[in-house]
Parts: sequence; structure tokens; C-alpha cells
Amino acid sequence: MDEAERERPRLGRAAPVRVRVPAKINLHLRVGDLRPDGFHELSTVYHAVSLYDEITARSGDTLTLTMEGEGAGHLPLDESNLAIRAARLLAEHTGRPPYARLHLRKNIPIAGGLAGGSADAAAALVACDALWNTGLTRDHLADIAAEIGSDVPFLVLGGTALGTGRGERVSPVLAPGHTWHWVLAFADDGLSTPEVYAEIDRRRANGIADAVAGEADMLLAALRQRDPEILAATLVNDLQAPALALRPELMRTLMAADDVDALAGVISGSGPTCVFLAADSRHAAAIAASLERSGVCRSTATVTGPVAGARVV
Ligand code: ATP
Repeated sequence: MDEAERERPRLGRAAPVRVRVPAKINLHLRVGDLRPDGFHELSTVYHAVSLYDEITARSGDTLTLTMEGEGAGHLPLDESNLAIRAARLLAEHTGRPPYARLHLRKNIPIAGGLAGGSADAAAALVACDALWNTGLTRDHLADIAAEIGSDVPFLVLGGTALGTGRGERVSPVLAPGHTWHWVLAFADDGLSTPEVYAEIDRRRANGIADAVAGEADMLLAALRQRDPEILAATLVNDLQAPALALRPELMRTLMAADDVDALAGVISGSGPTCVFLAADSRHAAAIAASLERSGVCRSTATVTGPVAGARVV
């Protein structure tokens, strides 16, 4: 085969596709009963924030993943990586070979309660969908997303949305266009989501009476009012008490909310990332600076929400 022949197939190859995907926080998280399938019945309000991972998909002769950033060198890049699983599942659903070279730039901390793995799965789905030109509808993509994990459909959608079932059934919250300002406080080590759920089950079996989140109505009303002081009073997370039981030092981080003058502080999802609500961008910067000075966290990020889900950029 001469040089021209070798190059010919490459000329027909699709251009690289770059997809940006946000992290999520939970503004409201109510954990219901444990279901026979091992998942809990959830009612949650997801909120996509401007901390992004990025996946670039290029044509290839096999399916490969490389990465840089948060967790590089530790996170497996094999079939257990959710980005690879997503690409493979999309290929199965569309009956095409799962060939792509994926590169992940990771900013979302691993096991941080920010659904970083699910975000990467959503990004890989959207990237491979575009690279392979599958022509799938958004609904079909959402069904595949739900097969990968409970948070993945939301990370395809983005914005602010109500999640029910095990979190995979999402419907957008029609909140008026308003930008909320948050500070994320990252911890040194991650927390295992299954362990936090096991802890809530243990507490409930032992009759430990944690306050239980009610309906999301008050939070949804607060979002419509666009007033951060009102929103602050409605943030709630049933996984906060079990996360604190497993990682008591997080109490110091949460308690810092008062010292740094945040409107509210809450653990995101299964933790350990703590989320602080600010009145505006200047307030958020001041909170982040105070948190960094106080040494109650590894680092911080000021973010806004809601932002779009996984999108080609
Ligand atoms: P959630 O809030 O959805 O429970 P999380 O933010 O606490 O998730 P993730 O960062 O999504 O946690 O990671 C959970 C586990 O998933 C990790 O321990 C890791 O081993 C595995 N995982 C697989 N693929 C990825 C990926 N691309 N990025 C991060 N974690 C991944």
C-alpha cells in the first residue's frame, strides 16, 4: 500500500468533536425507600454549575481513553471508566463499531458528590453521537444515559431539573432566567456514594431520627423568586447527616458558612464537596477567599448555575 492509499481512509474520517460537560449539585435531595433493585427512591432538584470536564473524540481504529487533570494516574482508563462504558453502549444501541479515541480533561473532583463520572459518561455519549453521526433523538440518548447511571440523563440535559425514580427521570424546572452564585469547597479525599447510602440505611434501621427533607415545593418557589436569601432557607440534603457521620471533619467546613458570611452551606449529593450560596459574584469571591484562608478545605471554586448540559463546543 503506497502513502496515498494509506491516507485515503483518513480523509473520510470525521473531524474531532469537543464536548464540555458541567458538574451538578443537588439543591434538594430527599432519599426515600430502598427499592427491591437496590436503588433508593429519590426526589431531587439537580442544578448544573460552571465547573466543567471536557472530552474530545477523534476517529480511531479501536476505543481508547487518555486523560489529564483531576485524578490522572489514579482513575482507571479501561472498561470500568464511565466514558468508555458510555461510548460502548452507544455503539451497541446504534449497531456500529465502537471506534474512537477519547481524551478527557478533568476538573471535577473524583467521588466528590458532583457526579463527575456521570458527567464524563454524558460527554462521551454526546461526543461519540456527533462523531459517529448516529442521528439519535435526544430522547433515545436520554434512555441510553439512564442505562449508564442515575445522574447521566440530567448531565445531558443540564439547567435545573427535578429528578425522580432513582434520579434518572428528569424534567426541567421552568425557573426564570436568573444566575445563582455558589462556592464549592473541595475535600482532600472522596467519599464513596454506596457507603453514604449504606450509612443512611443503617441510621434508619437503628431509628436515628435525622430530619427528613419534605417536598421540593418550597425550593422551587424560592427559585422562582430569584432571591438568594429565600433560596438559602430551602436547601436540604438527606445525605448530609450520613456523610457527616462518615466524615465528621466536614462539620468544620460546613460550620465555616457563618464565619465566611455565606447565605447557606450544604453538602452536595453524597459529599464530601460542600456548597455555599452567595448573593452575587463579589460575595462568592469573598467567601472563597475566606474559606481558603481558614484551611477547612483543600481548595475552592466559584461557580454559577444553571448552565447547559453536555454540549459540543
Ligand atoms: P455521584 O454524585 O454521582 O455519586 P461522585 O461525584 O460522588 O458521583 P464520581 O466522581 O462520579 O463520584 O465517581 C464515582 C466513582 O466512579 C469513582 O470512585 C470512580 O472509580 C468511578 N468512575 C468511573 N469513571 C469515572 C470517571 N470518568 N470520572 C470519575 N469517576 C469515575
